[in-house]
Amino acid sequence: MKALCWHGKEDVRVDNVPDPVIENDDDVIVKVTATAICGSDLHLYGSKVPTLEEGDILGHEFMGIVEETGSGVTHLKKGDRVVVPFTISCGHCFFCEKDLFSLCDTTNPNEDKARELIGHATCGMFGYGHITGGFSGGQAEYVRVPKANVGPLVVPDGLEDDKLLFLSDIFPTGYMAAENANIQHGDTVAVWGCGPVGQFAIQSAWMLGAGRVIAIDHVPERLPKPMARPKRWILSMRPKFMKSLWR
Ligand SMILES: [Zn+2]
Ligand SMILES: [Zn+2]
Repeated sequence: MKALCWHGKEDVRVDNVPDPVIENDDDVIVKVTATAICGSDLHLYGSKVPTLEEGDILGHEFMGIVEETGSGVTHLKKGDRVVVPFTISCGHCFFCEKDLFSLCDTTNPNEDKARELIGHATCGMFGYGHITGGFSGGQAEYVRVPKANVGPLVVPDGLEDDKLLFLSDIFPTGYMAAENANIQHGDTVAVWGCGPVGQFAIQSAWMLGAGRVIAIDHVPERLPKPMARPKRWILSMRPKFMKSLWR
């Protein structure tokens, strides 16, 4: 298959690599139909994340069709359309039982190394170097998804990929920011930074009942009228493509 592989600082290439295979009973193989490049991938591209190895397959935001299932997979079947969260979680540990899936302490085989290098460990994650377990990512034609009874979300056929793909990372990330703000009906909410995650935080704020959302940014192309109001960096916005998610 073809996959995007890391070869060094600012050197990523589409390589021909072996197809993934089922390694554990609760694995599935997903045929990727859509994948995204995350802002976090820039840290990998710039070699800011330790433990990357030449040939590592990148990508932690992806969705697709279940192609093959391990014998212990009960929640998915061949042909299911799934969005796969970037976290790999067991579903049974102390943290998973509290829905703190990114803290799962059973799925990252390199957690000692993570603690040594960055002071703490996360769960296993797709496509993010060996500090998060060295799992191959989803910027590829196929990907092995471990712990498939826990993470993947079966999605309906009626919605296009680009309306669902962001459930893999940036929509929940933006939503969680809004949820943490404990927004009450009619509140005025300010969101600093209007990249993709910021835009999801804005839409989530609307969804949670905000009466006014003030979006703050200084990147000209993110402002609706940068030529007419070049000095005005604060404005209200409500991107149409995001609104369509809720209707
Ligand atoms: Zn991401
Ligand atoms: Zn767990």
